[in-house]
Amino acid sequence: MNKAEVLLTSDRTLMSNYHNNEFVGFGACAPPNFIPEWFYSFLFFPPIKTINGVPSAAPYGLRKVEAQLLKEGFHVVTVGPEYIGEYIGEAKIIGIYAMDPFGLGPASSTFAAILKKEPYVAKYFHLLLDNPVIKKAKNKGLKIIIGGPGAWQFRFRQKFVEENAVDCIVEGEAENVIGRIFKAALDGEYVPKHYEVNVNETPSLNEIPEIVQPSINGLVEIGRGCCRGCEFCSVTLMPLRWCPYEKILREINVNQLGRISGCCLHAEDVMLYGSKNTSPDDEKLLRLHELVVKKCDGISWSHCSLAAVAAKPRLFSKIAETIRQKQPWWGTEIGIETGSPELAKKIMPAKAHPFKAEEWPQVVRIGMSMMHDNRLVPACTLIVGLPEEKEEDIIKTMELIDDLKHVRSLIVPLFFVPLGRLKSEDWFRKTELTELHRQLLFQCAEHDFYWLDNLMEMAFAGKWYMRFMKEFYRVFVGIAKRKARQIEIGVLQ
Ligand code: SF4
Repeated sequence: MNKAEVLLTSDRTLMSNYHNNEFVGFGACAPPNFIPEWFYSFLFFPPIKTINGVPSAAPYGLRKVEAQLLKEGFHVVTVGPEYIGEYIGEAKIIGIYAMDPFGLGPASSTFAAILKKEPYVAKYFHLLLDNPVIKKAKNKGLKIIIGGPGAWQFRFRQKFVEENAVDCIVEGEAENVIGRIFKAALDGEYVPKHYEVNVNETPSLNEIPEIVQPSINGLVEIGRGCCRGCEFCSVTLMPLRWCPYEKILREINVNQLGRISGCCLHAEDVMLYGSKNTSPDDEKLLRLHELVVKKCDGISWSHCSLAAVAAKPRLFSKIAETIRQKQPWWGTEIGIETGSPELAKKIMPAKAHPFKAEEWPQVVRIGMSMMHDNRLVPACTLIVGLPEEKEEDIIKTMELIDDLKHVRSLIVPLFFVPLGRLKSEDWFRKTELTELHRQLLFQCAEHDFYWLDNLMEMAFAGKWYMRFMKEFYRVFVGIAKRKARQIEIGVLQ
């Protein structure tokens, strides 16, 4: 067994391949509910396969940290959370990757506010830190360092940091600083309690290492940063960088060696691959897709923008044709955020670019219809409770959602979380939900229930073992639908 001075891990909800479907992973944002926990976790975040406690795949961000530490000469092993005890004896540091450690992310905080319980993502993060083997090792000098996209949440949970004797939280793109911090921790030198990576320390393309072990569901980064500048988003504060084809293909190779034949292209806007502005670069985007489709058995996108799709309809159809040579549909996440042109102009003035901000609702209608026609299935987010939101803004969002009835999609309303340039704004709380907000929430639930059956058929087609699973998900959706309607009738009466 490969013992190491540095252990890397994450909680149980992140160490899963979600039955090979990233959408299914959203289930971990919900709190415990009417389904027994053992069965719910099996449906939505089953544990990843391991050999001697070493997972066959791990979250992409954790793989990047692993690659960077290995490059700098550390002796590192990534382990599943259930197997920490088998490795911790030799370890001097445990590095934990956190996505949404306190359930403060938009999806989980919305669920938690409505259902009044801590979401699974937070529950399992706490269980990981409560693990007696970590506590025991901590007493013997183990250092705990936490990073990942959820690191910002610790600023709101200082007491937790103290109580669990966490040594350092690293917030931001850590490649250029992580080695220094781990080295200081190993040498018993000073490490800051909270290290926020500043823009000057952001890694250039050459400084971002390639993963050396497989990532969950074949996720591969094609670029970082975003040039649209939405006020509520922290990604936009970072510079825009696109990875060359060779780097992307080498990471796909790593996943394929680990028997992951599909690939999820990750960027804030896959449609803008290789572009320096908000207009897609036809040649680079097409070339990327030809290369990836040829190499992989399946493809999905992490995120894309509606504006880029609406701006280049012919290019989008060509990309869709390329992808659909091998598969009938693919999925992505997109941000609709609001249906109000006035609000769009204030908080996301470049989201519609090259169109005008006030044309945003029309950009959404066009982009969504094109996705439907070309069989790209979007999971869309709306932001409820944005600063300066007025009743007329909510009504415009409701009108827009009504116009999207025919579009095969999921629409998820999320409570506003103060991030990016809106960091100092107040959180939106359930107590501030107006009657209109509630109607919007139910409207989205009705939209999603309408499309869920169709989406399950598409997601599970051709996979024999999923025939049985599909029936379980169907029962779950049926109960959730009934419960939501009971609440809806109660609230609206
Ligand atoms: S388009 Fe998305 S990633 Fe880019 S700034 Fe806006 S919210 Fe952030």
